Amino acid sequence: MKPPPFDYFAADCIEAAIQALADAGGDGKIIAGGQSLMPMLNFRLLRPSILIDINRIPDLAYVRDDGDEIRIGPLTRHRILETSDLIAKQFPVLHEAMGYVAHLAIRNRGTIGGSLSHADPAAELPMMSLLLDARLEVQSNAGRRTIEARDFFLGALTTALEDGDMLVEVRLPKLREETGWAFEEVARRSGDFALASVAVIMDSDGDWVSDIRIGMMGVGETPMRATEAENILTGQRYSEAAVAATVDAIRAAVEPNTDLHASADYRRHLVGILAQQALAKAWDRSRRASR
Ligand SMILES: Cc1cc2nc3c(=O)[nH]c(=O)nc-3n(C[C@H](O)[C@H](O)[C@H](O)COP(=O)(O)OP(=O)(O)OC[C@H]3O[C@@H](n4cnc5c(N)ncnc54)[C@H](O)[C@@H]3O)c2cc1C
Repeated sequence: MKPPPFDYFAADCIEAAIQALADAGGDGKIIAGGQSLMPMLNFRLLRPSILIDINRIPDLAYVRDDGDEIRIGPLTRHRILETSDLIAKQFPVLHEAMGYVAHLAIRNRGTIGGSLSHADPAAELPMMSLLLDARLEVQSNAGRRTIEARDFFLGALTTALEDGDMLVEVRLPKLREETGWAFEEVARRSGDFALASVAVIMDSDGDWVSDIRIGMMGVGETPMRATEAENILTGQRYSEAAVAATVDAIRAAVEPNTDLHASADYRRHLVGILAQQALAKAWDRSRRASR
């Protein structure tokens, strides 16, 4: 199918883009990589009056070391994140996850700003932003503000972005070098959206888990943090019993959908298996790094 008619504006700076959004009065859409927006237009799920192209705005694609944080520009393509040495060093879990995002052709066009703003519940970057406690910088004609990733995802394809908002930067607080990590995902075919996925980052102190974060996706309307499960394991001696209790809490917390790809029961079972594997790998990496 072809998209409905729309006007087109190529912005040359952030201010021009947000002014065009404001002028459209809630009826305009930013186009970044176009990998999610164009299918939505072609299926006539969206009918914006104007597309505001941000691809010609200089200096929107970058990965920068800024002391305690890594700052990422909204137009940074998935492939740049996947191949960034800085990301591989600071956030190996994100580096690993990027290889699971769609296919290479889509990763060459798709952007971090587009993926977070689109907020697909089975997309890797929204889940990574939750896991890594990302701070999302948003700009509109009213000024600039920061939204924590945990407050950003409100529902499937629904975020805290308001009409007139543009996501202008993603800031990721650095992890300790010794932090263990793991990313586990099952999809029907390589490059498909995940049936379920679990990511873990973990710090250990001897036989004890001193800190842990668990992110999940594909098992609810938004990506999720397994907060109760994190609380169960934090400050505990790592053991089979502690892992079993954590996995039970994860299965209890999720509310997966049944769709043509998998039943809710299967997804609930799967997320527990993936969590078991991810916990074991993250623990192992954390212990090796602390030796
Ligand atoms: C066949 C296929 C398979 C895919 N598989 C996966 C997968 O396995 N995992 C995965 O994570 N993704 C997958 N994707 C989606 C892909 O990663 C997209 O690139 C991404 O979701 C959207 O990024 P984009 O830059 O293309 O955004 P666009 O399509 O340009 O925009 C998406 C939405 O975000 C808004 N937007 C874009 N940038 C901004 C901004 N800076 N500020 C405010 N709003 C903005 C747009 O207005 C639009 O509403 C797949 C896509 C396809 C077509």
